[in-house]
Amino acid sequence: MGRVYNFSAGPAVLPEEVLREAADEMMDYRGCGMSVMEMSHRSKVYDDIIKTAEADLRSLLSIPDDYEVMFLQGGASQQFAMIPMNLMKNKVADYIVTGQWAKKAYQEAQIYGKANKIASSEDKTFSYIPDCSDLPISPDADYVYICENNTIYGTKFKTLPNTKGKTLVSDVSSCFLSEPMDVTKYGVVYGGVQKNIGPAGVVIVIMKKELITEDVLPGTPTMLKYKTHADAQSLYNTPPAYGIYICGKVFKWIQKMGGLEAMKKHNEEKAKILYDFLDESSLFKGTVVKEDRSLMNVPFVTGNEELDAKFVKESKAAGLENLKGHRSVGGMRASIYNAMPTEGVKALVEFMKKFEMENK
Ligand SMILES: *Cc1c(COP(=O)(O)O)cnc(C)c1O
Repeated sequence: MGRVYNFSAGPAVLPEEVLREAADEMMDYRGCGMSVMEMSHRSKVYDDIIKTAEADLRSLLSIPDDYEVMFLQGGASQQFAMIPMNLMKNKVADYIVTGQWAKKAYQEAQIYGKANKIASSEDKTFSYIPDCSDLPISPDADYVYICENNTIYGTKFKTLPNTKGKTLVSDVSSCFLSEPMDVTKYGVVYGGVQKNIGPAGVVIVIMKKELITEDVLPGTPTMLKYKTHADAQSLYNTPPAYGIYICGKVFKWIQKMGGLEAMKKHNEEKAKILYDFLDESSLFKGTVVKEDRSLMNVPFVTGNEELDAKFVKESKAAGLENLKGHRSVGGMRASIYNAMPTEGVKALVEFMKKFEMENK
């Protein structure tokens, strides 16, 4: 049984090279006689692994020194609470709701203060990104929140909202390291790594240092204060050590592939193959407004639920896995993250052509 083309939205495909390397190092990590899974996070060997991972991420994204990089746990979903607990000094924040993940973050923030929904695309089932050039930003908002790439609906912010000087907080879980980004435009950038960077269990938070203070909402647990983790360089307690090690390998792989500009080019080429086909197909159609299409998550439908189900079943049999759309929207979704090879997307389009012929 060989490997399949895995179009899962997350946990998702990882570079084969990284998996092989990890397999080679499984029993004995570079002569130290044990697996990375078995070693102390306080050891010299592990310290080198986490420091190198951070340095490589900093170099990939050109993260300036006045930003902290933290490797945390709890998934992206825990950030929905950590962000308001740590940043809601005035207890006011503005949310742009462009999908389920942004909506969950917005709902969570309501526990801690006044969360305002200043824009939404829910009226058209989140199939577009609203115009965010002149939104009613609250004068006392502590931050403006977005989910930059909407994993479930397949939309992406191509221009960042005009926050009128307020701190921008962005969930980049499903577009992390898929293309260059200017970190200095954000106060906080965070993402669960299981979409585009590594195994589930790690969330990376890149945060402007001046936002990291002891001035947090009363009752915030020690483990949920950014300051705890920033002061301890992500080693306050046992970190998700093995996951961080794999992330580090993926950073090296991206460097080897030519960095984020090269990733972007590669991702644009792959996405074009699929979108071009969707635009000309008489059976399949993309569900998202063209200008806002994601390079990472591509939802599509036939317009007939039974045919959709047949497609998912037959594609799986053909070695194309996890094409079923999110349970909240149905249809299909192909997640074509960094590690999905061009051949995978070509194989998908070939299969779609064949399916279209057979089901006209
Ligand atoms: C998957 C996902 C999440 C949730 O991640 P967990 O790590 O499961 O909490 C949040 N935001 C976005 C954009 C996602 O794609």
